[in-house]
Amino acid sequence: MTPRTGTCLCGGVRFEVTEPFAAVSYCHCTTCKKLSGGTGTVNGRSRTDAIHVRQGAELLRTFQPSEGSAKTFCSGCGSNLFGGGWPDSEYSSVRLSALDEPPEQQPGAHIFVRSVAPWETLPEDGLERFETRSG
Ligand SMILES: [Zn+2]
Ligand SMILES: [Zn+2]
Repeated sequence: MTPRTGTCLCGGVRFEVTEPFAAVSYCHCTTCKKLSGGTGTVNGRSRTDAIHVRQGAELLRTFQPSEGSAKTFCSGCGSNLFGGGWPDSEYSSVRLSALDEPPEQQPGAHIFVRSVAPWETLPEDGLERFETRSG
């Protein structure tokens, strides 16, 4: 496949994902709300080995919360780029918000719906919903 390209807001970080995502899902957890500034994140699950940082690796910062997996963002602009334990985990999450073009894969599930906020409305899109994580 043609590599999927992604960038942070300031353009300092550029990366490529060279394999199709194993799954795409919305995450509504409280951590994703904090780090995204919105209702959560939308993530493509990818083998970590298929994620290649092409520029700006020195800008990346990884935060390990006390609960859950490490999250990686650009220190220049704050854009959240990777989760799921990147770069040390076998599989990582790529934030779809960072991709330059939308992937052909549509989200298949909403996860952590137990953390849907009072100010948030879950869409009636027919997708599977999970109280915590799927699988
Ligand atoms: Zn940036
Ligand atoms: Zn989350």
